[in-house]
Amino acid sequence: MLIGAHVSTAGGLPKTLERGEDLRCEAIQIFNQSPRMWRPTRYTEEDFAAFRKAKRDSPVKAVVIHMIYLINPATKEGEMRKKSLDSLVHALTVGEGIGALGVVVHPGALKDDTRAHARKRAVGLIKEALARTESCPIIYENTAGSPQLLGRDFDETAALIDATGGPKRLGLCIDSCHLHATGYDVRTPKGVSKLADEIDSKVGLKQLKCLHLNDARDERGSNRDRHASIGKGKIGRKGFRAFLGEKRFQKLPAVLETPGPDGHGPDRKEVLLTRRLWREATK
Ligand SMILES: [Zn+2]
Ligand SMILES: [Zn+2]
Repeated sequence: MLIGAHVSTAGGLPKTLERGEDLRCEAIQIFNQSPRMWRPTRYTEEDFAAFRKAKRDSPVKAVVIHMIYLINPATKEGEMRKKSLDSLVHALTVGEGIGALGVVVHPGALKDDTRAHARKRAVGLIKEALARTESCPIIYENTAGSPQLLGRDFDETAALIDATGGPKRLGLCIDSCHLHATGYDVRTPKGVSKLADEIDSKVGLKQLKCLHLNDARDERGSNRDRHASIGKGKIGRKGFRAFLGEKRFQKLPAVLETPGPDGHGPDRKEVLLTRRLWREATK
């Protein structure tokens, strides 16, 4: 397992690798642009080349892009649709430029429409983004919290993948906190094994491309998406040993998106703790 963390892109793309190395990451996740603004970051071919060159000798072996939260691929509204599409195309272009494993996307929110309609619109927009780019895959993340969100269960994600064009450029990312919040048992080897079985039968384990590692502030099934630092929430150290120990997850990059000690994200200590829990679980 390639354990790492979400890191900031402040200071440019190669800087993200330095940050990752400093945190002892073997995988990193970045936003393709500032997460609270629509304005895309204009990267040049040279920026991409510099990143790829730096990555060759870096202990960071996998890079994942996370789509900014502003987009809603399922939107009905014209302006929102255009912005979401442009932003997604931008993320995929950056992904291709830097050789990212894929772009993690939350498939969208219903607002005041039916699931079927929202799903259809999300699929339409994502298909268009794929058609406008070459190769970078889209990775649907399982969501938690509002029932308004698409992608809360694996049946829906499987349907989304099928409708968007099948396995070739589409994948799945599972988030430990989101799973726990929607009621999955991620804290015992038996629960995690059952989860892997379900993913395999509904989506296919081959489509599972990355893990998000977050502890959860709330009880299992709470439906609340509030991340806690690893070992400090309701999943706990023992729970993470179970989650990280699942043998069918071992080839995946796994990134922390936790608040960390100061609310600014995970620090080196937390990444190292996570790797230690993984080692204990797999030795
Ligand atoms: Zn996540
Ligand atoms: Zn979350």
